[in-house]
Amino acid sequence: MDLRYDTFFIGGAWVRPSTDRVIVPVDASTEEPLGSVPEGAEADVDAAVAAARRAFDDATGWAAWEPARRAGVMERLAEEIDLRADGFAARVSAQNGMPVAVARQLETGYPSAVLRYYAGLAREAAFVDTRPGLLGGSVEVRRHPVGVVAAIVPWNFPQALAMFKIAPAMAAGCTLVIKPSPETVLDAYLLAEAVEAAGVPAGVVNIVPAGREVGAYLVAHPSVDKVAFTGSTPAGRAIAETCGRLLRPVTLELGGKSAAIVLDDAELDLTAIGAGLFGSTLLNNGQTCFLGTRVLAPRSRYGEVVDAFTALAESLPVGPAADPETRIGPLATARQRERVESAVATGRASGARVTTGGGRPKGLDRGWFFEPTVFADVDNGSFIAREEVFGPVLSLIPYDGVDDAVRIANDSDFGLGGTVWTADPERGAAVARRVRTGTIGVNRYIPDPAAPFGGVKSSGLGRELGPEGLAAYQETQSIYL
Ligand code: NAD
Repeated sequence: MDLRYDTFFIGGAWVRPSTDRVIVPVDASTEEPLGSVPEGAEADVDAAVAAARRAFDDATGWAAWEPARRAGVMERLAEEIDLRADGFAARVSAQNGMPVAVARQLETGYPSAVLRYYAGLAREAAFVDTRPGLLGGSVEVRRHPVGVVAAIVPWNFPQALAMFKIAPAMAAGCTLVIKPSPETVLDAYLLAEAVEAAGVPAGVVNIVPAGREVGAYLVAHPSVDKVAFTGSTPAGRAIAETCGRLLRPVTLELGGKSAAIVLDDAELDLTAIGAGLFGSTLLNNGQTCFLGTRVLAPRSRYGEVVDAFTALAESLPVGPAADPETRIGPLATARQRERVESAVATGRASGARVTTGGGRPKGLDRGWFFEPTVFADVDNGSFIAREEVFGPVLSLIPYDGVDDAVRIANDSDFGLGGTVWTADPERGAAVARRVRTGTIGVNRYIPDPAAPFGGVKSSGLGRELGPEGLAAYQETQSIYL
Protein backbone atom coordinates (compact mmCIF):
# COMPACT_ATOMS: atom_id res chain seq x y z
CA MET A 1 0.00 0.00 0.00
CA ASP A 2 1.42 3.37 -0.97
CA LEU A 3 -1.31 5.97 -0.70
CA ARG A 4 -0.35 9.61 -1.01
CA TYR A 5 -2.61 12.57 -0.42
CA ASP A 6 -1.57 16.21 -0.51
CA THR A 7 -4.81 18.02 0.32
CA PHE A 8 -7.44 18.19 3.07
CA PHE A 9 -11.18 17.71 2.53
CA ILE A 10 -12.55 21.07 3.67
CA GLY A 11 -15.71 22.86 2.55
CA GLY A 12 -16.52 20.12 0.04
CA ALA A 13 -13.25 20.65 -1.83
CA TRP A 14 -9.70 19.31 -1.78
CA VAL A 15 -7.72 22.13 -0.22
CA ARG A 16 -3.96 22.58 -0.06
CA PRO A 17 -2.46 22.45 3.44
CA SER A 18 -0.96 25.51 5.11
CA THR A 19 2.39 23.80 5.78
CA ASP A 20 4.43 21.07 4.11
CA ARG A 21 4.46 18.83 7.18
CA VAL A 22 3.25 15.28 6.59
CA ILE A 23 2.05 12.28 8.57
CA VAL A 24 3.47 8.91 7.47
CA PRO A 25 1.20 6.08 8.64
CA VAL A 26 3.01 2.81 9.21
CA ASP A 27 1.92 -0.80 8.73
CA ALA A 28 1.68 -2.27 12.23
CA SER A 29 2.35 -5.79 10.90
CA THR A 30 5.46 -4.95 8.84
CA GLU A 31 6.70 -1.57 10.16
CA GLU A 32 6.73 -0.34 6.52
CA PRO A 33 5.34 3.10 5.57
CA LEU A 34 1.91 3.03 3.93
CA GLY A 35 1.90 6.44 2.26
CA SER A 36 1.57 9.99 3.46
CA VAL A 37 -1.00 12.68 4.16
CA PRO A 38 -0.59 16.32 5.14
CA GLU A 39 -0.46 17.08 8.84
CA GLY A 40 -3.01 19.67 9.87
CA ALA A 41 -1.83 22.88 11.51
CA GLU A 42 -3.81 25.63 13.22
CA ALA A 43 -4.47 27.49 9.95
CA ASP A 44 -5.98 24.31 8.46
CA VAL A 45 -8.24 23.93 11.49
CA ASP A 46 -9.26 27.58 11.07
CA ALA A 47 -10.21 26.87 7.44
CA ALA A 48 -12.14 23.72 8.37
CA VAL A 49 -14.03 25.40 11.23
CA ALA A 50 -14.85 28.37 8.98
CA ALA A 51 -16.26 25.99 6.34
CA ALA A 52 -18.32 24.15 8.95
CA ARG A 53 -19.53 27.48 10.36
CA ARG A 54 -20.60 28.77 6.93
CA ALA A 55 -22.45 25.54 6.18
CA PHE A 56 -24.17 25.65 9.55
CA ASP A 57 -25.10 29.35 9.42
CA ASP A 58 -26.55 29.20 5.89
CA ALA A 59 -30.17 30.15 6.53
CA THR A 60 -31.47 27.77 3.87
CA GLY A 61 -28.71 25.18 4.26
CA TRP A 62 -28.16 21.86 6.02
CA ALA A 63 -29.33 22.89 9.49
CA ALA A 64 -32.52 24.38 8.04
CA TRP A 65 -33.37 21.35 5.90
CA GLU A 66 -36.22 19.06 6.78
CA PRO A 67 -34.70 16.17 8.77
CA ALA A 68 -35.97 13.68 6.17
CA ARG A 69 -33.94 15.48 3.49
CA ARG A 70 -30.82 15.12 5.62
CA ALA A 71 -31.70 11.45 6.09
CA GLY A 72 -31.65 10.94 2.32
CA VAL A 73 -28.09 12.29 2.14
CA MET A 74 -27.05 10.12 5.09
CA GLU A 75 -28.44 7.02 3.38
CA ARG A 76 -26.48 7.86 0.23
CA LEU A 77 -23.37 8.25 2.36
CA ALA A 78 -24.00 4.82 3.89
CA GLU A 79 -24.17 3.35 0.37
CA GLU A 80 -20.91 5.04 -0.62
CA ILE A 81 -19.25 3.69 2.51
CA ASP A 82 -20.50 0.18 1.74
CA LEU A 83 -19.08 0.45 -1.80
CA ARG A 84 -15.66 1.07 -0.24
CA ALA A 85 -15.93 -1.64 2.44
CA ASP A 86 -12.87 -3.61 1.36
CA GLY A 87 -10.80 -0.45 1.18
CA PHE A 88 -11.80 0.64 4.68
CA ALA A 89 -11.02 -2.80 6.12
CA ALA A 90 -7.63 -2.98 4.38
CA ARG A 91 -6.57 0.52 5.38
CA VAL A 92 -7.67 0.28 9.00
CA SER A 93 -6.14 -3.13 9.56
CA ALA A 94 -2.84 -2.15 7.94
CA GLN A 95 -2.54 0.99 10.04
CA ASN A 96 -3.61 -0.20 13.48
CA GLY A 97 -3.13 -3.97 13.32
CA MET A 98 -6.83 -4.84 13.65
CA PRO A 99 -7.36 -8.35 12.22
CA VAL A 100 -8.97 -7.78 8.84
CA ALA A 101 -11.86 -10.10 9.68
CA VAL A 102 -12.71 -7.81 12.62
CA ALA A 103 -12.19 -4.69 10.49
CA ARG A 104 -14.62 -5.99 7.85
CA GLN A 105 -17.37 -6.19 10.45
CA LEU A 106 -16.70 -3.35 12.82
CA GLU A 107 -15.03 -0.74 10.61
CA THR A 108 -17.29 -1.03 7.55
CA GLY A 109 -20.67 -2.71 8.02
CA TYR A 110 -21.09 -1.40 11.54
CA PRO A 111 -20.46 2.33 10.80
CA SER A 112 -22.84 2.29 7.86
CA ALA A 113 -25.45 0.57 10.06
CA VAL A 114 -25.03 3.38 12.61
CA LEU A 115 -25.47 5.94 9.84
CA ARG A 116 -28.65 4.24 8.59
CA TYR A 117 -29.97 4.01 12.14
CA TYR A 118 -29.61 7.78 12.60
CA ALA A 119 -31.06 8.45 9.15
CA GLY A 120 -34.09 6.50 10.38
CA LEU A 121 -34.20 8.54 13.58
CA ALA A 122 -33.98 11.78 11.57
CA ARG A 123 -37.10 10.65 9.70
CA GLU A 124 -39.01 9.50 12.78
CA ALA A 125 -37.88 11.54 15.77
CA ALA A 126 -39.89 14.55 16.88
CA PHE A 127 -37.80 17.66 16.30
CA VAL A 128 -40.70 19.81 17.56
CA ASP A 129 -43.46 18.99 19.98
CA THR A 130 -46.15 21.10 21.53
CA ARG A 131 -47.34 20.33 25.02
CA PRO A 132 -49.92 21.86 27.34
CA GLY A 133 -48.33 24.27 29.78
CA LEU A 134 -48.84 23.67 33.50
CA LEU A 135 -49.51 27.39 33.93
CA GLY A 136 -51.92 27.71 31.01
CA GLY A 137 -51.33 28.05 27.28
CA SER A 138 -49.02 25.66 25.54
CA VAL A 139 -45.29 25.26 25.02
CA GLU A 140 -43.57 24.50 21.74
CA VAL A 141 -40.35 22.61 22.37
CA ARG A 142 -37.93 22.72 19.44
CA ARG A 143 -34.79 20.62 19.14
CA HIS A 144 -32.26 22.75 17.33
CA PRO A 145 -28.87 21.43 16.19
CA VAL A 146 -26.17 22.47 18.61
CA GLY A 147 -23.94 23.89 15.84
CA VAL A 148 -20.38 23.21 14.71
CA VAL A 149 -19.01 20.01 16.23
CA ALA A 150 -15.34 19.23 16.84
CA ALA A 151 -15.08 15.42 16.64
CA ILE A 152 -11.81 13.94 17.88
CA VAL A 153 -11.26 10.24 17.41
CA PRO A 154 -8.62 7.68 18.41
CA TRP A 155 -6.87 5.07 16.28
CA ASN A 156 -8.37 1.87 17.67
CA PHE A 157 -11.73 1.93 15.82
CA PRO A 158 -11.27 5.05 13.71
CA GLN A 159 -14.31 4.63 11.48
CA ALA A 160 -16.81 3.28 14.00
CA LEU A 161 -15.90 5.91 16.60
CA ALA A 162 -16.00 8.72 14.03
CA MET A 163 -19.44 7.52 12.94
CA PHE A 164 -20.70 7.53 16.56
CA LYS A 165 -20.30 11.32 16.19
CA ILE A 166 -20.93 11.98 12.49
CA ALA A 167 -24.25 10.13 12.28
CA PRO A 168 -26.12 11.78 15.18
CA ALA A 169 -24.55 15.17 14.39
CA MET A 170 -25.75 14.97 10.77
CA ALA A 171 -29.19 13.77 11.82
CA ALA A 172 -29.51 16.71 14.22
CA GLY A 173 -28.44 19.22 11.54
CA CYS A 174 -24.95 19.95 12.86
CA THR A 175 -21.79 20.35 10.80
CA LEU A 176 -18.47 18.80 11.78
CA VAL A 177 -14.72 19.12 11.79
CA ILE A 178 -13.25 15.65 12.31
CA LYS A 179 -9.72 15.23 13.60
CA PRO A 180 -8.50 11.68 13.07
CA SER A 181 -5.59 10.34 15.07
CA PRO A 182 -2.21 10.50 13.27
CA GLU A 183 -1.93 6.68 13.38
CA THR A 184 -5.09 6.19 11.29
CA VAL A 185 -5.39 8.75 8.54
CA LEU A 186 -5.75 6.77 5.32
CA ASP A 187 -9.23 5.50 6.14
CA ALA A 188 -10.23 9.10 6.84
CA TYR A 189 -9.44 9.95 3.21
CA LEU A 190 -11.66 7.12 2.04
CA LEU A 191 -14.42 8.57 4.19
CA ALA A 192 -13.84 12.01 2.63
CA GLU A 193 -14.17 10.42 -0.82
CA ALA A 194 -17.42 8.77 0.24
CA VAL A 195 -18.73 12.08 1.62
CA GLU A 196 -17.93 13.78 -1.68
CA ALA A 197 -19.44 10.99 -3.77
CA ALA A 198 -22.62 10.99 -1.67
CA GLY A 199 -23.21 14.67 -2.39
CA VAL A 200 -23.08 15.75 1.24
CA PRO A 201 -23.38 19.56 1.05
CA ALA A 202 -20.09 21.46 1.19
CA GLY A 203 -18.83 22.15 4.70
CA VAL A 204 -21.05 19.64 6.53
CA VAL A 205 -18.16 17.19 6.99
CA ASN A 206 -14.56 18.48 7.08
CA ILE A 207 -11.55 16.32 7.92
CA VAL A 208 -8.15 17.46 9.19
CA PRO A 209 -5.74 14.77 10.43
CA ALA A 210 -3.41 16.17 13.08
CA GLY A 211 -1.73 15.54 16.40
CA ARG A 212 -2.84 16.40 19.91
CA GLU A 213 -1.70 20.05 20.06
CA VAL A 214 -3.77 20.86 17.00
CA GLY A 215 -6.57 18.79 18.53
CA ALA A 216 -6.41 20.99 21.62
CA TYR A 217 -6.54 24.06 19.38
CA LEU A 218 -9.68 22.70 17.70
CA VAL A 219 -11.33 21.98 21.06
CA ALA A 220 -10.83 25.59 22.18
CA HIS A 221 -11.65 27.17 18.80
CA PRO A 222 -14.05 30.12 19.29
CA SER A 223 -16.33 29.00 16.44
CA VAL A 224 -16.86 25.46 17.75
CA ASP A 225 -20.13 24.84 19.61
CA LYS A 226 -19.67 21.28 20.87
CA VAL A 227 -16.86 18.79 21.37
CA ALA A 228 -17.19 15.03 21.00
CA PHE A 229 -14.11 13.10 22.05
CA THR A 230 -13.13 9.45 22.24
CA GLY A 231 -9.72 8.61 23.61
CA SER A 232 -7.71 8.25 26.75
CA THR A 233 -8.83 9.44 30.18
CA PRO A 234 -5.92 11.92 30.60
CA ALA A 235 -6.71 13.58 27.25
CA GLY A 236 -10.40 13.58 28.17
CA ARG A 237 -9.66 15.40 31.42
CA ALA A 238 -7.65 18.07 29.56
CA ILE A 239 -10.48 18.53 27.06
CA ALA A 240 -13.09 18.66 29.83
CA GLU A 241 -11.11 21.43 31.54
CA THR A 242 -11.09 23.49 28.37
CA CYS A 243 -14.77 22.89 27.77
CA GLY A 244 -15.56 23.69 31.40
CA ARG A 245 -13.80 27.03 31.11
CA LEU A 246 -15.65 27.79 27.87
CA LEU A 247 -18.98 26.33 29.07
CA ARG A 248 -18.93 24.27 25.89
CA PRO A 249 -20.97 21.06 25.74
CA VAL A 250 -18.76 17.99 25.57
CA THR A 251 -19.20 14.23 25.24
CA LEU A 252 -16.30 12.12 26.47
CA GLU A 253 -15.84 8.41 25.77
CA LEU A 254 -12.71 7.42 27.67
CA GLY A 255 -10.89 4.38 28.97
CA GLY A 256 -12.14 1.30 30.76
CA LYS A 257 -11.18 -1.64 32.95
CA SER A 258 -14.40 -3.58 32.86
CA ALA A 259 -15.27 -6.74 34.72
CA ALA A 260 -16.23 -10.04 33.10
CA ILE A 261 -18.08 -11.75 35.95
CA VAL A 262 -18.16 -15.52 35.58
CA LEU A 263 -20.95 -16.87 37.81
CA ASP A 264 -20.66 -20.31 39.40
CA ASP A 265 -23.18 -21.83 36.97
CA ALA A 266 -21.45 -20.50 33.83
CA GLU A 267 -20.85 -22.64 30.76
CA LEU A 268 -17.09 -22.78 30.23
CA ASP A 269 -16.94 -24.91 27.10
CA LEU A 270 -15.09 -22.79 24.57
CA THR A 271 -16.92 -24.31 21.61
CA ALA A 272 -20.09 -22.76 23.08
CA ILE A 273 -18.80 -19.45 24.44
CA GLY A 274 -15.33 -18.94 22.96
CA ALA A 275 -16.42 -16.47 20.28
CA GLY A 276 -18.37 -14.37 22.80
CA LEU A 277 -15.54 -14.44 25.33
CA PHE A 278 -13.04 -13.42 22.66
CA GLY A 279 -15.21 -10.53 21.46
CA SER A 280 -15.74 -9.17 24.94
CA THR A 281 -12.25 -9.64 26.40
CA LEU A 282 -9.61 -9.65 23.62
CA LEU A 283 -11.18 -8.01 20.55
CA ASN A 284 -8.87 -5.93 18.36
CA ASN A 285 -5.73 -7.23 20.10
CA GLY A 286 -7.07 -5.95 23.40
CA GLN A 287 -7.15 -2.39 22.08
CA THR A 288 -10.84 -1.86 22.73
CA CYS A 289 -12.16 0.42 25.45
CA PHE A 290 -15.08 -1.71 26.65
CA LEU A 291 -13.29 -5.06 27.11
CA GLY A 292 -13.81 -7.07 30.26
CA THR A 293 -10.11 -7.37 31.04
CA ARG A 294 -10.70 -8.10 34.72
CA VAL A 295 -12.16 -11.59 34.77
CA LEU A 296 -13.84 -12.30 38.11
CA ALA A 297 -14.08 -16.03 38.80
CA PRO A 298 -15.78 -17.88 41.68
CA ARG A 299 -13.17 -19.46 43.95
CA SER A 300 -15.03 -22.78 43.72
CA ARG A 301 -14.34 -22.93 39.96
CA TYR A 302 -11.25 -20.74 39.80
CA GLY A 303 -8.98 -23.42 38.32
CA GLU A 304 -11.51 -24.21 35.59
CA VAL A 305 -11.85 -20.54 34.66
CA VAL A 306 -8.07 -20.11 34.54
CA ASP A 307 -7.83 -23.18 32.28
CA ALA A 308 -10.62 -21.90 30.00
CA PHE A 309 -9.07 -18.45 29.50
CA THR A 310 -5.62 -19.94 29.08
CA ALA A 311 -6.97 -22.32 26.41
CA LEU A 312 -8.83 -19.43 24.76
CA ALA A 313 -5.68 -17.29 24.58
CA GLU A 314 -3.65 -20.21 23.22
CA SER A 315 -6.26 -21.00 20.56
CA LEU A 316 -6.07 -17.57 18.89
CA PRO A 317 -3.91 -17.42 15.76
CA VAL A 318 -1.42 -14.54 16.10
CA GLY A 319 -0.29 -13.10 12.78
CA PRO A 320 -0.32 -10.28 10.25
CA ALA A 321 -3.50 -8.22 10.40
CA ALA A 322 -4.23 -8.73 6.69
CA ASP A 323 -4.46 -12.54 7.06
CA PRO A 324 -8.17 -13.46 7.32
CA GLU A 325 -7.28 -16.30 9.75
CA THR A 326 -5.58 -13.94 12.23
CA ARG A 327 -7.44 -13.35 15.48
CA ILE A 328 -4.67 -11.41 17.25
CA GLY A 329 -2.72 -8.94 15.12
CA PRO A 330 0.07 -6.60 16.18
CA LEU A 331 -0.40 -3.69 18.53
CA ALA A 332 -0.95 -0.38 16.77
CA THR A 333 2.39 1.25 17.45
CA ALA A 334 5.81 0.56 18.93
CA ARG A 335 4.92 2.87 21.82
CA GLN A 336 1.74 0.89 22.47
CA ARG A 337 3.71 -2.36 22.67
CA GLU A 338 6.20 -0.77 25.07
CA ARG A 339 3.27 0.30 27.24
CA VAL A 340 1.89 -3.25 27.25
CA GLU A 341 5.32 -4.79 27.98
CA SER A 342 5.82 -2.42 30.86
CA ALA A 343 2.37 -3.28 32.28
CA VAL A 344 3.13 -7.01 32.00
CA ALA A 345 6.45 -6.51 33.82
CA THR A 346 4.58 -4.66 36.57
CA GLY A 347 2.07 -7.51 36.73
CA ARG A 348 4.81 -10.11 37.14
CA ALA A 349 6.49 -8.01 39.83
CA SER A 350 3.20 -7.82 41.75
CA GLY A 351 3.23 -11.61 42.20
CA ALA A 352 0.52 -12.45 39.67
CA ARG A 353 1.11 -15.69 37.74
CA VAL A 354 1.40 -15.72 33.92
CA THR A 355 -0.42 -18.84 32.67
CA THR A 356 0.21 -18.19 28.98
CA GLY A 357 1.90 -15.58 26.82
CA GLY A 358 3.75 -12.72 28.44
CA GLY A 359 6.16 -11.87 25.61
CA ARG A 360 6.69 -11.36 21.93
CA PRO A 361 5.65 -14.32 19.76
CA LYS A 362 8.40 -16.30 18.08
CA GLY A 363 8.81 -16.01 14.32
CA LEU A 364 7.22 -12.57 14.02
CA ASP A 365 10.24 -10.32 14.05
CA ARG A 366 8.69 -7.41 12.20
CA GLY A 367 5.55 -5.73 13.48
CA TRP A 368 4.52 -4.89 17.03
CA PHE A 369 3.21 -8.30 18.04
CA PHE A 370 2.54 -9.39 21.60
CA GLU A 371 1.23 -12.75 22.76
CA PRO A 372 -2.25 -13.05 24.24
CA THR A 373 -1.45 -13.13 27.94
CA VAL A 374 -3.35 -14.37 30.96
CA PHE A 375 -2.49 -13.45 34.53
CA ALA A 376 -3.95 -15.59 37.33
CA ASP A 377 -4.06 -14.79 41.06
CA VAL A 378 -4.40 -11.07 40.44
CA ASP A 379 -5.16 -8.74 43.33
CA ASN A 380 -7.82 -6.17 42.40
CA GLY A 381 -5.68 -3.49 44.02
CA SER A 382 -2.70 -4.13 41.74
CA PHE A 383 -1.68 -2.11 38.68
CA ILE A 384 -2.82 -4.70 36.11
CA ALA A 385 -6.27 -4.80 37.71
CA ARG A 386 -6.67 -1.04 38.02
CA GLU A 387 -5.09 0.42 34.89
CA GLU A 388 -6.12 0.00 31.29
CA VAL A 389 -3.37 -2.02 29.57
CA PHE A 390 -4.81 -1.70 26.05
CA GLY A 391 -3.27 -4.92 24.82
CA PRO A 392 -4.19 -8.65 24.81
CA VAL A 393 -3.71 -9.04 28.56
CA LEU A 394 -6.32 -10.45 30.96
CA SER A 395 -6.27 -10.39 34.76
CA LEU A 396 -8.12 -13.21 36.53
CA ILE A 397 -9.31 -12.37 40.03
CA PRO A 398 -11.01 -14.84 42.41
CA TYR A 399 -14.16 -13.93 44.35
CA ASP A 400 -16.22 -15.46 47.16
CA GLY A 401 -19.95 -15.18 46.45
CA VAL A 402 -21.95 -12.85 44.22
CA ASP A 403 -21.81 -9.89 46.61
CA ASP A 404 -18.04 -10.10 46.58
CA ALA A 405 -18.03 -10.26 42.75
CA VAL A 406 -20.19 -7.13 42.55
CA ARG A 407 -18.00 -5.37 45.11
CA ILE A 408 -14.82 -6.14 43.12
CA ALA A 409 -16.47 -5.19 39.82
CA ASN A 410 -17.42 -1.82 41.29
CA ASP A 411 -14.04 -1.28 42.93
CA SER A 412 -12.61 0.44 39.86
CA ASP A 413 -11.99 4.00 38.74
CA PHE A 414 -13.72 3.10 35.48
CA GLY A 415 -17.23 2.05 34.47
CA LEU A 416 -17.65 1.55 30.74
CA GLY A 417 -18.47 -2.07 29.83
CA GLY A 418 -18.70 -5.50 31.41
CA THR A 419 -20.26 -8.91 31.07
CA VAL A 420 -21.90 -11.55 33.24
CA TRP A 421 -21.52 -15.22 32.23
CA THR A 422 -24.16 -17.62 33.50
CA ALA A 423 -26.47 -20.48 32.54
CA ASP A 424 -29.38 -18.40 33.91
CA PRO A 425 -29.88 -15.12 31.98
CA GLU A 426 -32.34 -13.80 34.61
CA ARG A 427 -29.77 -14.26 37.32
CA GLY A 428 -27.18 -12.66 35.05
CA ALA A 429 -29.38 -9.61 34.46
CA ALA A 430 -29.93 -9.23 38.21
CA VAL A 431 -26.16 -9.16 38.76
CA ALA A 432 -25.63 -6.83 35.77
CA ARG A 433 -28.04 -4.27 37.29
CA ARG A 434 -25.81 -4.03 40.37
CA VAL A 435 -22.66 -3.16 38.44
CA ARG A 436 -21.93 0.56 38.19
CA THR A 437 -21.19 0.84 34.51
CA GLY A 438 -22.61 2.52 31.42
CA THR A 439 -23.08 -0.74 29.50
CA ILE A 440 -22.98 -4.44 30.34
CA GLY A 441 -23.92 -7.68 28.59
CA VAL A 442 -25.23 -11.04 29.72
CA ASN A 443 -23.40 -13.86 27.90
CA ARG A 444 -22.57 -11.43 25.07
CA TYR A 445 -21.39 -7.89 24.50
CA ILE A 446 -21.68 -5.58 21.53
CA PRO A 447 -22.47 -1.85 21.60
CA ASP A 448 -25.91 -1.83 20.00
CA PRO A 449 -26.53 1.29 17.88
CA ALA A 450 -30.09 1.51 19.21
CA ALA A 451 -28.99 1.93 22.85
CA PRO A 452 -26.87 4.55 24.60
CA PHE A 453 -23.16 3.72 24.90
CA GLY A 454 -20.70 5.38 27.26
CA GLY A 455 -19.25 5.29 30.71
CA VAL A 456 -19.45 6.48 34.29
CA LYS A 457 -16.63 7.62 36.61
CA SER A 458 -13.30 7.98 34.74
CA SER A 459 -14.80 6.31 31.65
CA GLY A 460 -16.44 9.51 30.53
CA LEU A 461 -19.36 11.88 30.39
CA GLY A 462 -22.49 11.64 28.28
CA ARG A 463 -23.61 8.97 25.86
CA GLU A 464 -23.31 8.14 22.19
CA LEU A 465 -25.69 5.95 20.13
CA GLY A 466 -29.42 5.49 20.56
CA PRO A 467 -31.87 8.41 20.70
CA GLU A 468 -29.80 9.71 23.63
CA GLY A 469 -26.90 10.09 21.21
CA LEU A 470 -29.04 12.32 19.00
CA ALA A 471 -30.08 14.48 21.96
CA ALA A 472 -26.38 15.14 22.64
CA TYR A 473 -26.28 17.13 19.36
CA GLN A 474 -29.43 19.10 20.06
CA GLU A 475 -30.34 22.12 22.12
CA THR A 476 -33.93 22.52 23.18
CA GLN A 477 -35.77 25.81 22.91
CA SER A 478 -39.08 26.23 24.75
CA ILE A 479 -41.48 28.75 23.23
CA TYR A 480 -44.33 29.67 25.60
CA LEU A 481 -47.45 30.22 23.55
P1 NAD B 1 -5.49 9.64 23.02
O1 NAD B 1 -6.30 10.26 24.07
O2 NAD B 1 -4.02 9.76 23.11
O3 NAD B 1 -5.87 10.26 21.60
C1 NAD B 1 -7.19 10.23 21.10
C2 NAD B 1 -7.36 11.37 20.12
O4 NAD B 1 -7.33 12.60 20.81
C3 NAD B 1 -6.29 11.48 19.06
O5 NAD B 1 -6.89 11.95 17.87
C4 NAD B 1 -5.35 12.52 19.64
O6 NAD B 1 -4.60 13.18 18.64
C5 NAD B 1 -6.31 13.44 20.32
N1 NAD B 1 -5.83 14.17 21.50
C6 NAD B 1 -4.99 13.72 22.46
N2 NAD B 1 -4.86 14.66 23.42
C7 NAD B 1 -5.65 15.70 23.06
C8 NAD B 1 -5.96 16.96 23.65
N3 NAD B 1 -5.43 17.34 24.81
N4 NAD B 1 -6.82 17.78 23.01
C9 NAD B 1 -7.38 17.41 21.85
N5 NAD B 1 -7.12 16.23 21.23
C10 NAD B 1 -6.27 15.39 21.83
O7 NAD B 1 -5.99 8.15 22.96
P2 NAD B 1 -5.48 6.97 22.03
O8 NAD B 1 -4.23 6.44 22.63
O9 NAD B 1 -5.47 7.38 20.60
O10 NAD B 1 -6.68 5.93 22.18
C11 NAD B 1 -6.71 4.98 23.17
C12 NAD B 1 -7.62 5.38 24.30
O11 NAD B 1 -8.94 5.64 23.83
C13 NAD B 1 -7.78 4.31 25.33
O12 NAD B 1 -7.65 4.84 26.62
C14 NAD B 1 -9.19 3.79 25.12
O13 NAD B 1 -9.80 3.19 26.21
C15 NAD B 1 -9.89 5.01 24.68
N6 NAD B 1 -11.09 4.64 23.93
C16 NAD B 1 -12.31 4.87 24.50
C17 NAD B 1 -13.46 4.50 23.83
C18 NAD B 1 -14.82 4.74 24.41
O14 NAD B 1 -15.78 4.74 23.66
N7 NAD B 1 -14.96 4.96 25.69
C19 NAD B 1 -13.37 3.91 22.59
C20 NAD B 1 -12.12 3.69 22.05
C21 NAD B 1 -10.98 4.08 22.74
